[in-house]
Amino acid sequence: MIDKRKFYINGQWVSPTKPNDYEVINPSTEEAFATISLGSTEDTNAAVSAAKKALISWSESSKDERLNLLEKLLSIYKKRYGEMADAISMEMGAPMDWATDVQTSSGQSHLEDFIKRLKEFKFDEQFEPKSNNHICYEPIGVCGLITPWNWPINQIALKVVPAFATGCTMIHKPSEIAPMSAMLFAEMIDEAGFPAGVFNLVNGDGAGVGTDISSHPDIDLVSFTGSTRAGKLILKNGADTIKRVCLELGGKGGNIVFADSYPNAVRDGIRNVMSNSGQSCDAPTRMLVEKSIYERAVKEAVEEANLIKVDHASKKGDHIGPVVSKIQYNKIINLIQSGIDEGATLAAGGPELPNGMNKGYFIKPTIFTDVTNDMRIAKEEIFGPVLSIIPFETEEEAIQIVNETEYGLGNYLQTEDKEKAKRVAKKLKAGTIYVNGNGADPGAPFGGYRQSGNGREGGVWGLHEFLEVKAVTGWPK
Ligand code: NAD
Repeated sequence: MIDKRKFYINGQWVSPTKPNDYEVINPSTEEAFATISLGSTEDTNAAVSAAKKALISWSESSKDERLNLLEKLLSIYKKRYGEMADAISMEMGAPMDWATDVQTSSGQSHLEDFIKRLKEFKFDEQFEPKSNNHICYEPIGVCGLITPWNWPINQIALKVVPAFATGCTMIHKPSEIAPMSAMLFAEMIDEAGFPAGVFNLVNGDGAGVGTDISSHPDIDLVSFTGSTRAGKLILKNGADTIKRVCLELGGKGGNIVFADSYPNAVRDGIRNVMSNSGQSCDAPTRMLVEKSIYERAVKEAVEEANLIKVDHASKKGDHIGPVVSKIQYNKIINLIQSGIDEGATLAAGGPELPNGMNKGYFIKPTIFTDVTNDMRIAKEEIFGPVLSIIPFETEEEAIQIVNETEYGLGNYLQTEDKEKAKRVAKKLKAGTIYVNGNGADPGAPFGGYRQSGNGREGGVWGLHEFLEVKAVTGWPK
């Protein structure tokens, strides 16, 4: 059993003030493989006070000093890359190839991109050519960073790195379900030599450390990625101190497949939704198919889903792994059952364990057809390898169905008609519209409309989240 009971506070690994062990489970085997501690209010307070003290000099550090440390962190990340992939694979069930090539690489790519953006960023500039007004961008202060388990290092890098880059200090609370990658990243930060107190890590659950962070009077900003349910509580808990609350929440992405889409659009859509075992906030979980190609699309979708293998995370290959926990497993199976009960057609997969599996939180890639937008499977974020296919007749109808959700994180559209692509992209309500299978570039903004959140992470937008803006008049020339 790996012992990770300590927290990282003020540049030291320290024991919790009160022992409160919590077991980390490998979702492929259902067995505990590590022990962490869940922190208390005293632990949170100690981390916040270290961050507050460190802010005095770190907020005055030069851009070069911060760049230097970030470059060191990047080289350590590259050196310990394999350890990071192992940690992610064990804690959340990502198969080794996926953990290595996609999950772990996202952390490196964010580090590289923020280094580039920081080099270009002006913290100080004249307002307009003839104006005597000056604009200063200053670190917002002490930040509370709360991250989920599904893309662990991706979310951590999107918060910790811009907080460093802008001169903020921080306390990080990773997901208690998948804390291993976060603990390893904290070791890398320690090895890079950031000044004591700039970065602190306290493990804990939402009701404990998560709530203490959200309501803490000495925390100026909370940046949260996770469920819309927790996001609402964090916003309420932050209200009394009017802290800035940046929220990256859930989604229920629509993927419009027009009759004139590129040949592999349906198959790519299936791979996209099933990857990471369906546990991506911007997964295209509702496929809208134009009626004239509906039968062909369903046939291809089912064929593709049946080709996807489900297996242990420790194995290499392009299979999908288990979902993260027993709780998530039960929630997903319950939603699959609701689809059957509400009259959708189960075209692939289903609630039984995949063949040959009798342990682990494995779910078959599942497809429902003839889904209507009022069914639970079309409305709720399932967060598992489950797709709903919905037919449509006109462009307007497709747009209306996709937008008919409380979420707005990522939507997708497939058409070879260039004008239609631009027209529809502008009408879809989401922070990212993925057209014809193209991915987002490093540094592109990521975030949601409506109940998918209120901020934008990544690139220069990610730096702005951690900055205050000051206008100074009569700036002497
Ligand atoms: P979750 O909301 O249960 O937990 C996320 C984090 O918040 C964990 O660290 C948890 O301990 C903490 N937390 C839970 N309740 C809290 C509370 N009341 N106060 C403070 N902290 C609390 O979410 P999860 O199950 O870990 O992650 C999956 C969710 O994250 C999905 O809804 C997914 O769509 C969303 N997500 C969104 C994005 C995005 O960028 N928009 C990215 C990844 C995941």
